[in-house]
Amino acid sequence: MPRRHHPAPHASIWRLAPVQWETTVSYLQRLARRHHLNTAELLHGLGIHPPLLHPECTKPYGPYTSIELYLNAPSRGLIAAFVGIPDQHLAHALPEWNRYRDKPDPQSPRARLRLASAYAVTGCPRCTLARTGQPHPVPQYLPDTHLICRRHRTWMLGHHTLADTRLPVEHADLSRTPEILAAHRIHIRFLRRQGPAADHALALAMNLTETWRRAGPAEEHIWPARARRIGNNKRARLWYALAREAITYPETIALAQFLARHPRTLHVPERPGRTHPLHTAIATLLDRPRLENPALYPDQFSNRISYTPGRHPYPRSQSPYRHNPFNPSPTELTKLGYQPPRPRTTAGSKHAPPTNNQ
Ligand SMILES: [Zn+2]
Repeated sequence: MPRRHHPAPHASIWRLAPVQWETTVSYLQRLARRHHLNTAELLHGLGIHPPLLHPECTKPYGPYTSIELYLNAPSRGLIAAFVGIPDQHLAHALPEWNRYRDKPDPQSPRARLRLASAYAVTGCPRCTLARTGQPHPVPQYLPDTHLICRRHRTWMLGHHTLADTRLPVEHADLSRTPEILAAHRIHIRFLRRQGPAADHALALAMNLTETWRRAGPAEEHIWPARARRIGNNKRARLWYALAREAITYPETIALAQFLARHPRTLHVPERPGRTHPLHTAIATLLDRPRLENPALYPDQFSNRISYTPGRHPYPRSQSPYRHNPFNPSPTELTKLGYQPPRPRTTAGSKHAPPTNNQ
């Protein structure tokens, strides 16, 4: 069958570069805004069928999940020609750019709105302003190592939803928590030196510290204090839940380093209910005697900490890679009694459709 020819659109006079790891929907919104259009008008103007909304998008979904715009190959070709940036360059910057599941050799340009397969967070506002020259937020699929902007002392938290309403808190201020910034330096060095073994140890450490944080023991003073500093002494328990990864981060990194190079002498059989030398070592490392309690560890923990090359499920090549120790639970916030903020009724949604952008 002869291939249907789509006339290339007139190239735009603006060569709008994508931000690294940006969501496709954000890039197209910025592109449309640059041309004083909304995304639907831009797609229509390029001859792309209006995006179909997948039914899954209307169901309630998790607090970090976002709706993404997926384009098939002819659509991507039209947009690449319009912005004057090769398709493969766009694919390099936009992680979900070429993830449209389509039949081979599709003929007509199509787009689809679906739940994104990765978690997006709003990039550092000051870096975004410097990069794009615009104050509009840019959602990005940031890897673990980029959730912190050390220059602007900011932690990218992501979206948090409470009773179906977005909490308007997407960044944590780290200016009073130098230990988090210091841990970030160690984190980067650790990954560079240990490679996949670091990833394995980080995944274990994140799971453990998050479990311990959730348990919220009365003896724990450091994490609540850190939450208070992040929140500037306001709404500490809200920050304790919202900035969960940041609150435990220094301990997570210290624990991951320890797990990656734990001494072999700690390899002795575990006996149910009995303190293990590994637990004692971790309790000493993190200066928390309660961590000697075997109930705070998964079964056969000492067997899990050994990294076996080739068996790790997430190779580092999968970029941007983000550990998701737990699906963050919005109920943690609800249990704290926080009421959703009142939705604004004033006209403030000029850059919304066609998606309500996550
Ligand atoms: Zn920044």
